[in-house]
Amino acid sequence: MRLTEQVHTELKKNLKSGDRAIDATAGNGHDTEFLARQVGANGEVFSFDLQLESIEESTRLIKGKGLVKWVTFFQTCHSEISKFIPIEIKGGIQAVTFNLGYLPGGNKQIITQPETTLSALSQSYEYLSANGIISLIAYRGHDGGKREYGKLIELIKKMKWHCQTYPGNQSDNSPILFLIRKFRTD
Ligand code: SAH
Repeated sequence: MRLTEQVHTELKKNLKSGDRAIDATAGNGHDTEFLARQVGANGEVFSFDLQLESIEESTRLIKGKGLVKWVTFFQTCHSEISKFIPIEIKGGIQAVTFNLGYLPGGNKQIITQPETTLSALSQSYEYLSANGIISLIAYRGHDGGKREYGKLIELIKKMKWHCQTYPGNQSDNSPILFLIRKFRTD
């Protein structure tokens, strides 16, 4: 199973109609679409991406599928999560997805950066509900990707978050899926 499919399988178990979720890297909009379908018209999805190209492409996809009424897009850095998502919602986000790296088919120079990724991840954890989940796919095959991966491991250890990791394949450069879970006692 591809890591992106594994993310959807895991998140499906954690999401229900009426929930709130965040897509921290909209890209081409596939995770936003998935989240919007899970939470339904009574739920809410907040979707972030730095690039106009991604926001436009994702908006087109979401509109085409009739899901746009409960999706809000932000063309901004995901390290601004707590600036754009109302404070009342803190502790009420059921799932957050990250798919790092560059936009497939887009400008490969624009990639996620360790400092802002770590900041966005910490903010996401704070916004998570007491039994929420964060999925994050990190890529080690491109310039800067390995460093970002190393920084993520450091943060997860330091914060003592409950985290499972899954490699995409046997290669040293394979993408890695992190599933970070919050529990009622955390
Ligand atoms: N690498 C994945 C797709 C990642 S898409 C794959 O192969 O399928 C990653 C998205 O993150 C891109 O659309 C990019 O514009 C976005 N991005 C990069 N830096 C960002 C940031 N600081 N804040 C929000 N989005 C960012």
